[in-house]
Amino acid sequence: MNEFTHKKPKFTMIDEAFKCNVCGTKVEPLEYTARDHCLKCLCSKHVDNNPGDRANKCHGVLKPIAIEPHKNDNYKIVYRCTKCGIIKRNKAANNDNFNLMLKIMSNPESL
Ligand SMILES: [Zn+2]
Ligand SMILES: [Zn+2]
Repeated sequence: MNEFTHKKPKFTMIDEAFKCNVCGTKVEPLEYTARDHCLKCLCSKHVDNNPGDRANKCHGVLKPIAIEPHKNDNYKIVYRCTKCGIIKRNKAANNDNFNLMLKIMSNPESL
């Protein structure tokens, strides 16, 4: 008997380069965590129910509307989907457009 079964681990974390369809910036993968939003305009896409599962069919643009402080000097970006209106939160990445984050922080949209 010569049976080799290779079971691939199931990753739901997707860290891939993509082109932002809001501002056109080519966004490189982050490598330390899943890159899920544009580093320039901070916009994301409503494709997940849970992070990385790509199970949502909305595909609306998630627009950053507020910034929340997170542990270890990190931030969470609060998003609202321009299509279905859902509120989502994503962790900010360390090379995100911090000037834009400050701008949103000083003038957040109400939830
Ligand atoms: Zn962008
Ligand atoms: Zn949506």
